[in-house]
Amino acid sequence: MSTNESLNESLNASDPIFARRGEGTVSSRTSLEEDSMLPATAYQIVHDETMLDGNARLNLATFVGTWMDDHAIRLYNDSFQKNMIDKDEYPQTAAIEQTCWKMLGDLWHAPDLSTTIGCSTIGSSEACMLGGLALKRRWQEARRKDGKPTDRPNLVMSSAVQVCWEKFCNYWDVEPRLVPITEEHKTLDGHDLDKYVDENTIGVVSIMGVTYTGMYEPVRQVAEALDRIQEQTGLDIAIHVDGASGGMVAPFLQPDLEWDFRIERVHSISTSGHKYGLVYPGLGWVVWRDKQYLPESLIFYVSYLGGDMPTFALNFSRPGAQVLLQYYLFLRLGRKGYFEVQKASQDVALFLSKGIAELGPFELWNDGSDIPVFAWRLKDGYTDKWTLYNLQDRLRTRGWLVPAYPLPDDLADVTVQRIVVRNGLSMDLAALLLNDIKTQAQYLDGLEGPVPQEAQQSAFHH
Ligand SMILES: *Cc1c(COP(=O)(O)O)cnc(C)c1O
Repeated sequence: MSTNESLNESLNASDPIFARRGEGTVSSRTSLEEDSMLPATAYQIVHDETMLDGNARLNLATFVGTWMDDHAIRLYNDSFQKNMIDKDEYPQTAAIEQTCWKMLGDLWHAPDLSTTIGCSTIGSSEACMLGGLALKRRWQEARRKDGKPTDRPNLVMSSAVQVCWEKFCNYWDVEPRLVPITEEHKTLDGHDLDKYVDENTIGVVSIMGVTYTGMYEPVRQVAEALDRIQEQTGLDIAIHVDGASGGMVAPFLQPDLEWDFRIERVHSISTSGHKYGLVYPGLGWVVWRDKQYLPESLIFYVSYLGGDMPTFALNFSRPGAQVLLQYYLFLRLGRKGYFEVQKASQDVALFLSKGIAELGPFELWNDGSDIPVFAWRLKDGYTDKWTLYNLQDRLRTRGWLVPAYPLPDDLADVTVQRIVVRNGLSMDLAALLLNDIKTQAQYLDGLEGPVPQEAQQSAFHH
């Protein structure tokens, strides 16, 4: 017997862990092994392989929650067996889901909670798909009633939309009409909107917290542009607010900003429970201001306590635990607690953006005073030695993940770098990060010649 074969025979828990089968040999990685291994060995392998991942807490690229408290983790452990679709089997989890979206409807100033409708989803992507589908179906039904064709729907939005909207248009055969962002119009602000909308427009998407930069789009201004269009053309076009991050920030940090159901044209709002809702990955929400904006023809019924419960979802099975975690946070934090958490993140964002602006090489795109997210670029003509991609790589050697990427059309020649400040990036860590940015920029400035740039491409996805 060779050493490897004898290791393959060994399934003895008393063997030293790195000498057991699985650890003592290289696995095929393409097909299942014939034999089993000890759970402790398998655990060790998976645990060790994922050490090669970045550290989630130092991942300043993601918007998604990377910290929850011990009580939340206990609750997660108590409930990760629950399937959200089993409404009849887990009626209380189903009731809590309703409570949560009603609380969101209230937070977003729904005019009448008794006629509001909403649901949880796996994230904002699914929530946006549902919002978009409702817009499309309502437009189709209205067009059919008038005997008009329904074969060419379009959706109007900024060129800086999150990729889920491009997916929506692709998957459901809707023409995306992208209004390019420019230096003068950094977001979709209603200018020239009449050139983009027509009778085939199913709706306009407004983003609260543009993914690329963190800026709010002025929803009120877009609604007013649509009011003028309605006066001139009779077209009554609805807004879906993609509040993936801002939906859970603006109500606390900018309570007077009107972007939500206070604007009549806003028919639906989506958010990610797992972004500034502060829950671990796997949760989104969508709420319609009134049932009439979610066409009945899209709803399926599942059995619930002997009766029927309406559901609208792309998935069937989905974890229920995240919904309970959201409820836990709504109870635990209340409005005051959410304010304090988001304010702390905003303070850190403002501290960092100010510090970065003062370093010398950089110019801010925005400062993180909308959602606590901001981006910067290298000052024009500052250096030909290095780029933000090089700075991104240098920071990675310290563990920080701070992505650099190009802006969308028509600003694709502008490279920016962005920090998403989330709950858990403390002022203490932020001060260390700022110091690292300074040190690495100085290092790059001190190079004798330019860093080779051949393979330089953004690997970052929005
Ligand atoms: C993150 C994000 C999404 C997608 O949300 P997921 O929860 O990751 O599916 C959609 N829109 C915006 C503006 C986002 O920031």
